[in-house]
Amino acid sequence: MNPSEIARETLKRLSQERTPPTPDNYRKLYHDIAGTEATEVFPEKSLKALAISLPHNTAEQKRFARQIETAVASKNWGGLKTTIVDLLNKSAAEPPNWSALIRELLIRLEARQAELTPARKREALDHVLASAPAPDLLFTRMQGLLKNWSQAAAIENSISDVPSGETPAAIAVPPAPIFAAKDEHGMTKSGDSTKGVTNELLDLLAKLLETFISEVLADNSELAGEANRLAATARSVRSGDEIAAFITAMKRFSYRLNFVAEDQTELKSGLLHLLHMVIDNINELVLDDQWVQGQLAVVLELVNQPLNLRRLDDVERRMKDVIFKQSSLKKSLIDAQDQIKQMLVTFVDRLADFSESTSGYHDTIEQCAGKISKAKDITELTGVMEEVMRETRFIQLNAQRSRDELNQMRIKVSAAELEVKRLQNELTHASEMVRHDALTGALNRKGMNEALESEVARIKRHGGNLCLALLDIDNFKKLNDSLGHAAGDAALVHLTKVVQDTIRPEDTLARYGGEEFVVILPDTPLDSAVTAMTRVQRELTKRFFLHNNDKILITFSCGVAELVPEDMVTDALHRADGAMYLAKRAGKNRVVAA
Ligand code: GH3
Ligand code: MG
Ligand code: MG
Repeated sequence: MNPSEIARETLKRLSQERTPPTPDNYRKLYHDIAGTEATEVFPEKSLKALAISLPHNTAEQKRFARQIETAVASKNWGGLKTTIVDLLNKSAAEPPNWSALIRELLIRLEARQAELTPARKREALDHVLASAPAPDLLFTRMQGLLKNWSQAAAIENSISDVPSGETPAAIAVPPAPIFAAKDEHGMTKSGDSTKGVTNELLDLLAKLLETFISEVLADNSELAGEANRLAATARSVRSGDEIAAFITAMKRFSYRLNFVAEDQTELKSGLLHLLHMVIDNINELVLDDQWVQGQLAVVLELVNQPLNLRRLDDVERRMKDVIFKQSSLKKSLIDAQDQIKQMLVTFVDRLADFSESTSGYHDTIEQCAGKISKAKDITELTGVMEEVMRETRFIQLNAQRSRDELNQMRIKVSAAELEVKRLQNELTHASEMVRHDALTGALNRKGMNEALESEVARIKRHGGNLCLALLDIDNFKKLNDSLGHAAGDAALVHLTKVVQDTIRPEDTLARYGGEEFVVILPDTPLDSAVTAMTRVQRELTKRFFLHNNDKILITFSCGVAELVPEDMVTDALHRADGAMYLAKRAGKNRVVAA
């Protein structure tokens, strides 16, 4: 039977059996006659419409609607069923715990965190709320926010333990408690994300070690190197054993940091001392700018460089020098100005005297003139003339004396003026902190820095080698103690002379600090610089320092470093300093190349 025969037969049977001609009855009878199985019709159109009308607000909802649409398109009842059952299970299993979240939010919002102030946290919260997401997305976003805050707090806690350093063990907090803090708030439970956080923390620790800590340790290259090595380790540790070893290394490092912290404390008190010195002097002697400028220049120079105790010591010594020099000059200047003032007072007095006596003279002469006109005979006139003569002689003498005095005073005033000018110049000079060291005549630090600046500029322009030699007298304290400070000073002068006589004219000697000197050797490769400094050493053993006719042998230890164009001068000085210490350690009286 073809389909139209089956359809005709179906309609005939429906009317014969008086069955209501509904679509369902028709379909059932049709399949009976055809001998086929009655399959249910898939309501694709209706289901598509339904899928479209589903809410599409959250990622979760979108995913659900997409799954429904796919199942409808492939007329897949099974797929539809799984999707719907999944959705119902999910929403029944984990209703968002809003009360826990809000409680956590209130606690976290007020918790004190150095980096995240409550204001910043509120701002972040506002941002999430302002985007007005659907409730379940809001819940997820708020969870994310809280997770960030608690991570930041954990990092802050672990950092704040480092510098205080009371107990090095504080740093050795094993990773567990930090991450447990997150479990407590139900934020991170899966092992995988814990591992993610561990790596994130280790990475942060590495950054901290590399940037902040190694920066702070700029003056301690060895510890700075250690900080960088630890940073690299922090990035590479994976296994529990490696982490344990890393923690031990961190403990050791923090223990050593304690000493640096002590140094820093000492530095700070040294700085404060210096500051007080400046303030006291400014209070006492604010008379003109030059005074303050000289001292401020010292402080400015100081703060422009990385600090260490040795440098601070040096600056304090130089500061005292400048203050002493300036205060003695200041006194002379004030004396000279007083003298001028005194002379002006005398001058005015004399002037008053003079005009008084001349007006007296006029009076007398007038009286005399009257007497002369009234005189009746020569004898009367003789008396008047005598009076006139006497008065005139007196006034002449007086005038002469005043003129002489005035002349003398004028000479004295211009001499004093010259002296004031000279003293003012000298004060300016002292304020500029002259480029030469007063005791030895070698360049001082300022002079050295300027010389180095121009040498560095030269090699940058024209290339060539530039070496720095740093020398420190051996056992100088002993010499000072046994022969006295004055002999120590004389020894410094002697050494300067010998060095200057031995180095080439284009080389420069500078006094770097107390009994330390720097020789700048332009156009000199490292090995030649070492040879040059060894020659100076030999020369010193030939030319003894004489003290009360005793021959005293002065030796020094020396470190030589070559300055490469990409170097900072301070780098080269650092290397020379390191080599100098090696020379000391190896038994003194030798030259070591960095
Ligand atoms: P080392 O061989 O290890 O260098 O021993 P040292 O005795 O030289 O040790 P140190 O560098 O610590 O001592 C330097 C001494 O130099 C301390 C300080 O009193 C003295 N000094 C610094 N500047 C001057 C100065 O201008 N004149 C005099 N006479 N002594 C100075
Ligand atoms: Mg020294
Ligand atoms: Mg010394």
